[in-house]
Amino acid sequence: MARKTIIAGNWKMNLLPEEGEMLVVSLKTAFENKKNLEVVVFPPIGLIPFAREWIYDSVIRYGAQNCWHEVSGPYTGETSPELLKSLGCSYCLVGHSERREIFEESNELVGRKSQALVEMGIIPIVCVGESLAEREAAIHFEKIQQQVESVFEAVEKESWIHLVFAYEPIWAIGTGKTATPKQAEEIHQFIRKIIRQKSGDVLADAISILYGGSAKPGNAEELLAQDNIDGLLVGGASLVAEDFSNIIKAY
Ligand code: PEP
Repeated sequence: MARKTIIAGNWKMNLLPEEGEMLVVSLKTAFENKKNLEVVVFPPIGLIPFAREWIYDSVIRYGAQNCWHEVSGPYTGETSPELLKSLGCSYCLVGHSERREIFEESNELVGRKSQALVEMGIIPIVCVGESLAEREAAIHFEKIQQQVESVFEAVEKESWIHLVFAYEPIWAIGTGKTATPKQAEEIHQFIRKIIRQKSGDVLADAISILYGGSAKPGNAEELLAQDNIDGLLVGGASLVAEDFSNIIKAY
């Protein structure tokens, strides 16, 4: 099965409705749809009902940057996968390093969120990655292995096919310092090996693994040319229509 290439834009806590609309309107006409290509934007939660209106006539999909793992209840400020489903989200990011670091989200919580999402038919894009200190201490493989394995422990086997991973070295996020294609490919191969051990060849060859961390038009083509890099999760450059569409065109 050919893997899907996903070019995803994480807007983080940026853009007001007018700005988001302008960005999406420009993107809609800025690239050619290709087989196996999925373009996804992740606006802040308050813009999602607007995104639905902006995007309904386009191949672009949208998703949320985070969710809680319960359907409803006393979780002030949180958003359930059920609500995301009713708002038309196809994807949801989970375990972004900003959530793991600032909001102290554990591997266990990331796993529970992933399971809650697949139950709702929403594809979780599970972010994993190491800090600079962990890379320098050569414990990055171990950290990533724990992050990936905990997802397989939490998500029911029948839904493994719906998982997507994103390798995002923390030292490359928002820093302008991209992992070299060789560094990224090494970790992507490692993640695919873990998936292969957990789930066998069919799933290992079908699950997309994205790279994220200062991806931009100038490095997208080389990153996407790596055998195990199946797309990009883009932060800063996804806020600029020309940059994001040039990244999409690099595929
Ligand atoms: C991100 O936040 O997921 C990200 C990859 O950000 P940036 O592209 O700005 O490094």
